[in-house]
Amino acid sequence: MNKETLLEKFHTFLKSKNYEGRIVSANHIPDILSDIKKLHDHKEIYPALYQQYKDLFEFKPEASFGSIKSLIIVAIPVPQFKLTFRLNNNDLSTIIPPTYLYSQKIIDETQKLLYNIFSAEGYKVAYARIPFKTLAVRSGLARYGRNNISYISNMGSFYRLCSYYSDFKSEEDNWHELKMMNTCEKCSACRLACPTGAISNDRFLLHVERCLTYHNEQPIGVAFPQWIEREWHNCLVGCLKCQRICPENKIVKDWIEIGPSFTQEETELFLREIPFNELPEQTKRKLKKSELDEYAEVFARNLKPFLN
Ligand code: SF4
Ligand code: SF4
Repeated sequence: MNKETLLEKFHTFLKSKNYEGRIVSANHIPDILSDIKKLHDHKEIYPALYQQYKDLFEFKPEASFGSIKSLIIVAIPVPQFKLTFRLNNNDLSTIIPPTYLYSQKIIDETQKLLYNIFSAEGYKVAYARIPFKTLAVRSGLARYGRNNISYISNMGSFYRLCSYYSDFKSEEDNWHELKMMNTCEKCSACRLACPTGAISNDRFLLHVERCLTYHNEQPIGVAFPQWIEREWHNCLVGCLKCQRICPENKIVKDWIEIGPSFTQEETELFLREIPFNELPEQTKRKLKKSELDEYAEVFARNLKPFLN
């Protein structure tokens, strides 16, 4: 019997975990940078967003092992999480979309698993902070939806993308045109469901400055613009209106797991905008464990529309 190749081992691993993944040649790195640059040059990326993610959009490929020969992209299914806040003897439950909780944990665990496979054959793997959504679509792993969210068959949009560099030169190389899903051609459900008009008919790229996710991720000192109606808010951070309605998410849209819950005292501290470092140790631990520490300070502003 022939020995399983590294590429076969990679795909066996993905299958065993219900993950999906692709490997592309590192020769495509300039293509990823150029995809982003073209959008930026055509002023299609909202300037404030570009500045916020400039280091990602203009990434410099570097790995401690030296010569990068390939890019690995892996999609791991992740659920929505329900967070509960106790206030005035009532439980207030809010949802956080997939990808906010346990991000680093997933990246590290996946890297460890890939390392086991690749190092056994003498190759290295290192985390790559690169525009992973562009890589996922270009590699053929995912397709764009009209709402600019990327989708994968059987996972919908409920997955976390993790990207890595490797010195493994793969005979597999995937590179595809940036294209919208076929389903979108006869569908406008996300555009109609979007409360803010961020998805428009006049262009493919989202009007980020209209998107709730952009606004509820801003630092606590930045108030919601006046034009955002209170009843439009549907998540503690992020927004799921255009994903829940999407037919491609039919099988995952009700996948909700229980996230952390917060006591009356903790909720009051959040509402008083107490900085993360001044929260009780136990609360900090709870937030850090689920990797919500960087969002804790926006809880005050984001919770208020849900209080009645
Ligand atoms: S709701 Fe329809 S148009 Fe929007 S991303 Fe899903 S399939 Fe495409
Ligand atoms: S995330 Fe919300 S606000 Fe943003 S495009 Fe989707 S539905 Fe509209």
